[in-house]
Amino acid sequence: LRYTNGNESEVMKMEDCIFCKIIAGEIPSYTVYEDDVVKAFLDISQNTPGHTLVIPKKHVKDIFEYDEDLAAEVFKRIPKIARAIKASNPDIKGMNVMNNNGEVAYQSVFHSHWHLLPRYSSDDDFK
Ligand code: ADP
Repeated sequence: LRYTNGNESEVMKMEDCIFCKIIAGEIPSYTVYEDDVVKAFLDISQNTPGHTLVIPKKHVKDIFEYDEDLAAEVFKRIPKIARAIKASNPDIKGMNVMNNNGEVAYQSVFHSHWHLLPRYSSDDDFK
């Protein structure tokens, strides 16, 4: 599996990464947003309805592998993706944005991803 991250000089090869396969279209996903830097798609677990993952197209394992440029490019997209998800459903009242790094921090897929978890006033734990 080979893909570029939009920068033609930077070609990655990540044979066994499920999120690289999702980017390449080899594993199906429901795309929420996509451009040359990131892909956003529905999390298969749907911990809350609309649970979305935002991933850099460049394979970085975790937050410790981001350089400043990639961090800036990814982070500047997250609010607009969050707003679009919120705008899709008036019942969405808030959102958790989460990112796990390392097995001890409950990361299970080792291609960095940002969880966007829409929250509803009907959520069980809403007080
Ligand atoms: P955790 O599994 O503890 O949430 P992560 O933060 O690494 O750890 O999250 C990985 C996420 O990737 C999980 O929420 C999981 O549901 C999701 N996931 C795994 N495989 C797929 C897939 N094929 N398509 C969409 N989401 C996936």
